[in-house]
Amino acid sequence: MLAVAETDSTFECVLVDGREAWRGKCLHCNTPLLVFVDSGGSSTVTLEHIVPRTAGGTDELGNLGLACPRCNHGKGVRHDRNALTNPRSLEVVERLLEKRRKRWREPKPWSRPRAS
Ligand SMILES: [Zn+2]
Repeated sequence: MLAVAETDSTFECVLVDGREAWRGKCLHCNTPLLVFVDSGGSSTVTLEHIVPRTAGGTDELGNLGLACPRCNHGKGVRHDRNALTNPRSLEVVERLLEKRRKRWREPKPWSRPRAS
């Protein structure tokens, strides 16, 4: 999950109450998200496969995005079930992949959070 934040240019490393965190935006609705580094993630942020695994999606970073629970559990589930079987879903997937590509940034070793 942290690797996804690291390669998403909407995310930046911040300090919240002395804890390191990544702050960025939901891939779907741009809701602000906060991922704490020391918790290895957060229960309020979910990892999503843009092309669902059931439709042959991979675990590559380019196919992964961070989403708020509302998007992942609402839109996400329906979108999974119809995965790539109708033009509407295909369109959504294409748009998300494009959005992910636009947000993409190469991981920078010097900005990587310290391993504590
Ligand atoms: Zn969202």
